[in-house]
Amino acid sequence: MVRTRFAPSPTGDLHVGGAWTALASWALARGARGASGTVLRVEDIDTPRVVAGAAARIADDLAWLGFDWSEGAWGAAGGDHAPYIQSERTRIYDDALAKLAAAGLTYPCDCSRAEISRVASAPHAGDEIVYPGTCRDAPRDREMKRPPAIRLRVPKGSTIAFDDLVCGRVEQHVDVAVGDFVLRRGDGIYAYQLVVAVDDAAMEISHVVRADDLLASTARQILLMRLLGFTTAPSYAHVPMVVAPDGDRLAKRAGAASIRDLRARGVSAEAIVGTLGHALGLVRGDLRPMTAREVAASIAPPSAWRREPWPIPAAWA
Ligand code: GLU
Repeated sequence: MVRTRFAPSPTGDLHVGGAWTALASWALARGARGASGTVLRVEDIDTPRVVAGAAARIADDLAWLGFDWSEGAWGAAGGDHAPYIQSERTRIYDDALAKLAAAGLTYPCDCSRAEISRVASAPHAGDEIVYPGTCRDAPRDREMKRPPAIRLRVPKGSTIAFDDLVCGRVEQHVDVAVGDFVLRRGDGIYAYQLVVAVDDAAMEISHVVRADDLLASTARQILLMRLLGFTTAPSYAHVPMVVAPDGDRLAKRAGAASIRDLRARGVSAEAIVGTLGHALGLVRGDLRPMTAREVAASIAPPSAWRREPWPIPAAWA
């Protein structure tokens, strides 16, 4: 059974990059022989960043592009793994954190960002700073300088390897490359790494398809699933980023390269889906307008998908 999910954060409008990931994820499941599931999950855990009205606009854009969901939030049918809105799942994350704590795998950390960067070695894993472990063995009954974050005590020798279906073999020594990472922030908000690991495992997602800026997060998520006692992790397919026509990072200017903006300019859903499906290597043959269902019906295996960033057409920027 192929179960994929699309997990947007309602922090702005759906961009071409979001539509790209949604298409790959949705079509992989819908194009599979036999049973499949498409899950729509709302990643609104970072509540201060949520933009009012964005959720409804993303849902509307996704429907306009031709996606439907067998499970999930936003008018999808609900399902066995409800709720599908992260802000309604805090009890589930509380339980996961309690389980890790009971196993001695967590500790409170009241370091400030500035304190960490003063002590930390040069950034590893992208531009993330490796936590120097200041609070790892500090007395728990000490007076905290600020409301503490909760960190994972990453066991020594936590090496995670997986075969990404697009990018190939990935291996990360999480203890060395990342260090003890945050599970819950000092303001009480659960960290992305924890909630995504819990949700993907609990929702029985078989294939996580998402943008490759999250490739460096995957080892952390697999490690968390193992520590939480989940016996299987999903397969991963990380698709390349959508970039500006000149190859630069896409500016997040309001409306820039948003599906909303393209709609307003009269670009059809089939033109967008056909262009993205062709550029991403989901479908072969000449570029032509396509529905999402047509892409799913002839989808290529992830090993044949594009690996390099895709510059959007100048007319879309
Ligand atoms: N919510 C994340 C985003 O909108 C996606 C996270 C994921 O797919 O794991 O970028």
